[in-house]
Amino acid sequence: MIAVMQPGATAEDIEHVVEVLRLHNLKAQISKGEQRTVIGVIGTGFPDDLLESLEVLPGVDRVTRITRPYKLASRDFRPLDTVVTAGGQRIGGPEFVVMAGPCSVESREQLVQTATGVAASGATLLRGGAFKPRTSPYAFQGLGTDGLDLLEEGRAQTGLPIITEVMEPGQVERVAQTADVLQIGARNMQNFPLLKEIGRSDKPCMLKRGLSATIEEWLMAAEYVMHAGNPNVILCERGIRTFETATRNTLDLSAIPLIKRLSHLPIIADPSHGTGHRYLVQPMALAAAAAGADGLIIEVHPQPETALSDGPQSLTLEGFAELMATLEQVLAAVGRPLARPRASATSERLAVAAV
Ligand code: PEP
Ligand code: MN
Repeated sequence: MIAVMQPGATAEDIEHVVEVLRLHNLKAQISKGEQRTVIGVIGTGFPDDLLESLEVLPGVDRVTRITRPYKLASRDFRPLDTVVTAGGQRIGGPEFVVMAGPCSVESREQLVQTATGVAASGATLLRGGAFKPRTSPYAFQGLGTDGLDLLEEGRAQTGLPIITEVMEPGQVERVAQTADVLQIGARNMQNFPLLKEIGRSDKPCMLKRGLSATIEEWLMAAEYVMHAGNPNVILCERGIRTFETATRNTLDLSAIPLIKRLSHLPIIADPSHGTGHRYLVQPMALAAAAAGADGLIIEVHPQPETALSDGPQSLTLEGFAELMATLEQVLAAVGRPLARPRASATSERLAVAAV
């Protein structure tokens, strides 16, 4: 951190800053220029709001951070990419992963049909919400633990690892019994008790960006999970709220290369929630792949017009198959292979399912 003094700062103003730093066990390195004095702060472990406290002292013009507030999530401290392994599938390595399935698990038939369909088109993980964070208390809230049981059936039939949302700290243990990846929804990105509880879990998690979260707030949320002991965090850009109403959210594609620069954690793009419109999902999925995402999460429903949640943004099984075919071409152009589901287990199970 450095404090830049105003041109008219007095010797007492400078001494005052040095004294405040001393109270925090920090040392000051003073550089006197022709116009201004700059005070370098040496040491660590100071309170988060010290920057603001220094900035209001007499004679101080501005204070600037040099190191980032997130450490465990930062590439400064870990230059190599983190590769998360979930249910045998590597996420964040050279291979591009695709998580696909319904917004909500609705019934055995819907879930199994979607799971086998997306697996046949080359999906690498199965998504599906059993506990749903809905804006309206009157909307479908999910099947709860029955939904988790159906996801397990989907996994048994396809071999695909499961990603599903957990909304409360008290549910983490139960959801982790089923899930290969715990999803933290956008609305819970700053639910700190939930982040800490998932930090104590041995299951990887996928942290969705909050509805109006800055990149730094998002990485600080990842820091919570990692600080509590869980290094296996995957980030997910799912669109943010802007003034634009033509789309459900604004998918921030620039967040993908930006996160790659700032952090070693894998990043997945969610063009379904990021746009809210079926016809925008494929173009934005391809754009995210070209921008360097480590994978996609896509909502798919065998009959989207009957879906209990997020039908307008869900691809049909045919639409998903078309996306996967085009995706391979874009990935080939950027030199990235599409992950192949663990072949033996999956093809045997699919063969059995087809009989
Ligand atoms: C979802 O994945 O269905 C979901 C609720 O996502 P988000 O938290 O990004 O809104
Ligand atoms: Mn959804």
